[in-house]
Amino acid sequence: MLDVSGLTKIYPDGTLAVDGIDFTVDAGDFCVIIGPSGCGKSTTLHSLVGNLDVTSGTISLDGTDITDQPTHTRDIGLVFQDFQLFPHLTVAENIVYGLEQMGLDDQEKRRRTERLLEMMQLEELADRDPEELSAGQKQRVALARSLVLEPKLLLLDEPLGDMDYKLQKRMERELLRIHREFDTTFIYVTHDQTQAMRLADQIIVMNDGQVEQSGSVAEIYNSPNTAFVSAFVGDSN
Ligand code: ATP
Ligand code: MG
Repeated sequence: MLDVSGLTKIYPDGTLAVDGIDFTVDAGDFCVIIGPSGCGKSTTLHSLVGNLDVTSGTISLDGTDITDQPTHTRDIGLVFQDFQLFPHLTVAENIVYGLEQMGLDDQEKRRRTERLLEMMQLEELADRDPEELSAGQKQRVALARSLVLEPKLLLLDEPLGDMDYKLQKRMERELLRIHREFDTTFIYVTHDQTQAMRLADQIIVMNDGQVEQSGSVAEIYNSPNTAFVSAFVGDSN
């Protein structure tokens, strides 16, 4: 469903953050990108969603070249590590916000919002302000806000990064359940190899702006293609 070819991003200061990467992601997969800090994971996601202009390369989604399409027409959602909820809006208003731009009728907006509040177990919190919520609750609002738009592809940039281990494990189970129920495609970024192993259908290992290897969990762990992949995934054993 996603086909990335020769994707390159050089920042205005000359930093080569992503260096001609190629990868594909199949529809419905839970794809995890792993790699050390600074290897270009976030730059890749921000290029896919359209927050960044790429230097060269192409991005196609379901056969359509979206490389130069504006962000809001790409049908790709992004969940940030630090949630980025609107502080002056309630939980329900945060969720419905993106729908206002889509031109849906009131009934459809209500239907989608109520479904997400229920799925994320946020009904009781609908009228609260974000500042009153725990990290796990905020993350559920951030997910709901992206999922309510029903994107073809959802990108998640280290969404569990700031949580303690117990909460991370609970949110991992939640994410797997949401991924199944929404029947959508996820690209999830982490630098935690064990988390990648628990979540992924497909793993992409990045290093220094390049894709070292892409494959199933078993392929990456049992048949690493490069010394880097071997050492990086080996760290978790
Ligand atoms: P982390 O795991 O720490 O989040 P990452 O894999 O997401 O790292 P990126 O944030 O994509 O890495 O950064 C890739 C490279 O691009 C790094 O060398 C970083 O310093 C650089 N970089 C990121 N943003 C900018 C920017 N706005 N201007 C210049 N260089 C940048
Ligand atoms: Mg990052």
